[in-house]
Amino acid sequence: MAILQVQELTHIYGQGTPFVHTALDHVSLSIEKGEMVGVIGHTGSGKSTLIQHLNGLLRPTSGRVLLDGEDIWGEKYPRRQARFRVGLVFQYPEYQLFEETVRKDIAFGPKNMGLEEGEIARRVEAAMAAVGLDPKLGDKSPFELSGGQKRRVAIAGVIAMEPDVLILDEPTAGLDPRGREEILGLIRAYHQDRGATILLITHSMEDLANTAQRILVMNHARLMMDGTPEQVFSRADELRAAGLTVPQITQVVDELRRRGLDLPRGIYTVEQAVRALEAGKGGAPC
Ligand code: ADP
Ligand code: MG
Repeated sequence: MAILQVQELTHIYGQGTPFVHTALDHVSLSIEKGEMVGVIGHTGSGKSTLIQHLNGLLRPTSGRVLLDGEDIWGEKYPRRQARFRVGLVFQYPEYQLFEETVRKDIAFGPKNMGLEEGEIARRVEAAMAAVGLDPKLGDKSPFELSGGQKRRVAIAGVIAMEPDVLILDEPTAGLDPRGREEILGLIRAYHQDRGATILLITHSMEDLANTAQRILVMNHARLMMDGTPEQVFSRADELRAAGLTVPQITQVVDELRRRGLDLPRGIYTVEQAVRALEAGKGGAPC
């Protein structure tokens, strides 16, 4: 059963002002429990607006958001609960750290949920482990940490609420390639270990190629594509027209195909490319 459903969701900012702007235009989609979904789109396409609807931070101009089949703007719906069930890591979350110590910062969400001390402590340690933070850093001030470590603290703060759905808004933004891969590795591990439902927002196709099971493409306030990585990356021309690129390896394979090699469309990992090339040669599988 779908854990989240978005039905004909429209969001208009600044209605009745000269700055009126439609950020979401009749978007419909559905997320199954346990899925790892990538959301991609150019800057301003509506990604952040979309995800702020998924835990009730924004109210639809029209349309509905259902969590476990229930309208989160329904009259008696416990919306506060929805914020704990759907955990949102904002873009550049490290700017929102404010407590004296790392542990206190991570404990902030669980405290808000009204959990008892022992349970809060358990969750803080588990969340630190999940994001690969050395327990020794727990009593330091977040401000003494590196940028990458601060980001992990912020992600741990949301993980500590043990949300059913974890949404991360551009969690790799501003990191170097190694930092990006580390954060993506943590997210993949969290998905595998917990069977959590994850939405990963990014504007980098490379981020999604090895991570997402399904990709949603946003373009000018609309949902433009919704499919497997293979289906999405097969539509390289449309993606380019929407200001997006396909992963580098897809570009290489597309170029080889243009030069006459018989290779399938929609290849998006190096392993797939090697296999396809080997198969083309009639050679042994690698
Ligand atoms: P993305 O996350 O894909 O970059 P956003 O959802 O942040 O896109 O923004 C979608 C559009 O809505 C953009 O044109 C942006 O300028 C506009 N927008 C975002 N937030 C606001 C706001 N608070 N008030 C007015 N316009 C906004
Ligand atoms: Mg955004």
